[in-house]
Amino acid sequence: MQYRKFGNTSHDVSIIGQGTWYLDRGDRKQAVAALRRGLDLGMTHIDTAEMYGDAELVIAEAIDGRRDEAYLVSKVLPSNASRRGTITACERSLKRLKTDRLDCYLLHWQGSFPLSDTVEAFEQLVSAGKIRSWGVSNFDAGDLDELLTVAGEGKIACNQVLYHLQERAIEHAVIPWCAEHGVAVVAYSPFGHNDFPDQRSKGGAVLQTIAKRLGVSTRQVALAFLARETHVFPIPKASSMEHAAENAAAGDLVLSADDIAALDQAFPRGPKPRSLPML
Ligand code: NAP
Repeated sequence: MQYRKFGNTSHDVSIIGQGTWYLDRGDRKQAVAALRRGLDLGMTHIDTAEMYGDAELVIAEAIDGRRDEAYLVSKVLPSNASRRGTITACERSLKRLKTDRLDCYLLHWQGSFPLSDTVEAFEQLVSAGKIRSWGVSNFDAGDLDELLTVAGEGKIACNQVLYHLQERAIEHAVIPWCAEHGVAVVAYSPFGHNDFPDQRSKGGAVLQTIAKRLGVSTRQVALAFLARETHVFPIPKASSMEHAAENAAAGDLVLSADDIAALDQAFPRGPKPRSLPML
């Protein structure tokens, strides 16, 4: 597994992390085992949110006795993101995760509370040692500009956004903005949630050819493509140990410039959309 500095923080984080949306819906034991296998294989970055049902409880079981191995991220819902509500939501998440601190705490998407209120709460949580850093999710470049005027340089650890082979909108403005300001880009739904390219499609065939030649899986090629930029961190969700192990192995895969160019052609970036796509 390769590790990279996470935005402006002083922490090195695994380039492939672990998502947990819907992880509470299936077999609980299997979900815990999957997360633990992921940790064993170096996928230290674990992403969750107060919105994800009981996912925080599943994580609490998985990190029991190994909290220090994980880079733990959770998110506050916009409807809770007032100055007081953000702090209460964070304390609730800490309790559910059975930990005393988060490594990063994110605003899930921008809502109606002023950003200055949420940022003030984040800074208060940092001072209290309850979070080590903070960031945002689903912010377009314009939203990031607005946030920067409120927070100042060096404060935003990451922006977590939708990014997969068939949805490359963030490459137009979000990735360049984050690169310029030292903000990590966390790629959510890196397999398209439930829409991974079919092997019979034109793009899927290209993916298959590259994977076969390299002796890896198509999903590993997809993750390596997304992580090709030095500040992008994909976070696939896996509910089995087998899937977690397959995803972790992508953390050692580096694609050649030719393979990247072939994938770039097979899954074109497309024009810049009017608004940032999100799930
Ligand atoms: P995803 O990671 O793109 O895809 C998950 C799907 O891929 C599941 O059906 C999973 O099946 C399957 N899968 C995983 N590894 C596999 C493998 N090696 N082989 C075959 N299938 C595999 O979707 P996602 O859960 O939407 O996104 C990942 C994470 O991003 C979320 O869990 C969440 O933490 C975060 N997220 C954030 C936002 C936001 O607004 N900030 C929005 C969406 C997601 P199994 O479950 O059976 O393994």
